[in-house]
Amino acid sequence: MLGLMQQHPLLISSMITFADRHHGGTEIVSATVEGALAKTGAKHRYTYREAHIRAKRLANALIGLGIAPSDRVGTLAWNGYRHFELYFGVSGMGAILHTINPRLFPDQISWIANHAEDKVLFFDLSFVGLVEKLAPHLNCKAYVLMTDEAHMPAQSSLPNLLCYETLLAAASPDYAWPVFDENTASSMCYTSGTTGNPKGALYSHRSTVLHVYGAAMPDALCLSSRDAVMPVVPMFHANAWSLAYACPAVGAKLVLPGMSLDGKSVYELMESEKVTFSAGVPTVWLGLLQHVDGNGLRFSSLNRTVIGGSACPPAIINRFKDQYNVDVLHAWGMTEMSPLGTVGTLKAKHDGLPIEKQRETLYKQGHAIFGVDMKIVDDTGAELPWDGKAFGDLHVQGPWVTSGYYKRDGETVLIDGWFPTGDVATIDPDGYMQITDRSKDVIKSGGEWISSIDIENLAMSHPAVAEAACIAMAHPKWDERPLLVVVKKAGQEISRDEMLAFFGGKIAKWWIPDDVVFVNELPHTATGKLQKLKLREQFKGHVPA
Ligand code: AMP
Repeated sequence: MLGLMQQHPLLISSMITFADRHHGGTEIVSATVEGALAKTGAKHRYTYREAHIRAKRLANALIGLGIAPSDRVGTLAWNGYRHFELYFGVSGMGAILHTINPRLFPDQISWIANHAEDKVLFFDLSFVGLVEKLAPHLNCKAYVLMTDEAHMPAQSSLPNLLCYETLLAAASPDYAWPVFDENTASSMCYTSGTTGNPKGALYSHRSTVLHVYGAAMPDALCLSSRDAVMPVVPMFHANAWSLAYACPAVGAKLVLPGMSLDGKSVYELMESEKVTFSAGVPTVWLGLLQHVDGNGLRFSSLNRTVIGGSACPPAIINRFKDQYNVDVLHAWGMTEMSPLGTVGTLKAKHDGLPIEKQRETLYKQGHAIFGVDMKIVDDTGAELPWDGKAFGDLHVQGPWVTSGYYKRDGETVLIDGWFPTGDVATIDPDGYMQITDRSKDVIKSGGEWISSIDIENLAMSHPAVAEAACIAMAHPKWDERPLLVVVKKAGQEISRDEMLAFFGGKIAKWWIPDDVVFVNELPHTATGKLQKLKLREQFKGHVPA
């Protein structure tokens, strides 16, 4: 017997329609790219109701450009209101929004845009030079500059260069969002691909809407219409961790920081817009904390922030809470997971525990959100116990987890229906998962795994250390031994021996690195992750002092 509930496909357009009808007066505030380039710090503000009208105009404009359902529309853009309109206008009319990471190498960008077969490319004013260089290698039939006529370049080598505002002004606001199968592809994002070519995760309307329900839940991001949310995580990085969709779905005010992501700019926008919730990778927060610490400032409205994308050092979690009373939600996910998988919040059983005990739990990457299941397995695929000690390959499944990559037919990605994440983790008896490494970054010493992340976190709790990376170096007896690469904080001193002595009594003796080297900076990927492969190459053949 079938149920008697109404059949409504889960569509992205429903989120902006809902925000218009039920939270129509709530604001979206953007630090504009034009303002950042002219150093005026100009902001743009409007409401969900106005955004909805413009998303409909955009849908009509796209039809006018010859975009049909399932066509890919590329974006090279910061977090801003026009990018927000593209999120809804493109997917809402049935086309596929392809957000591209502008921090990738130009060769990678053109490879990705061509692989996705992007028909039109929308881009921010700061990327005119980049797009002019890319265009001869692309197959786009139009390039749309996300600005107004006043900011259009006098001259450009771009063929068929159009102005976003002009396109919108000419398009009708009358548009009824089409209703179609919720499994239709809505958007795509390529993984940064540290080895080989990038791979495309292709989201559907259904996966996106379900992900929003999961993300907004109290033990996930706990979003509400009382929040003012600032995603510092880019809208080109895994859907800004759902926030560009979840904010209209819950009616939260949305604050979009544009291209200025330094500590001062982020802090000032947070304060002026009374931001309560933010999100970003650890490096962004290091910059913010430095600015706030250095200038004796406080957060007057921020009460929590989600940090993920790479392991959040406990030192950041502690500084936010102890100095500023801001709760850090440590989260883990992947582009292939829309991206949220786990979030770190405490359970009732943690109430009353000493703070240090609670923190041990909060330092982990968190528990699964309903919708995602996970397990750890050994080399034979056998499931490992949830004892907080056994390390294994982390596998996940759920309706917002990828089943395969775009245009890689015939490739088997899943193992018995589970997606192998490439991460190595422990899971404790309460279901809190802790990432110890990427499987390819694991250090195997005498057949036993050493967690590079544990060592890095410990190193970063030393007051003289700004950033640290732990990598494997070849060893004749143990196969591999850990080498620690450290960036010192400006004006601080620490020697190799002091660094090594600092580990004494804090981790197993055989985990203590064999050597420490100091560098001015560490290599990062376009999404802010340490590039350990590069470091391994750099220190290949390193002989400990
Ligand atoms: P991306 O697809 O660029 O978001 O990268 C996903 C990968 O980032 C994961 O597979 C992890 O290796 C890493 N990652 C994301 N969040 C965390 C976290 N909180 N702690 C450690 N690693 C993380």
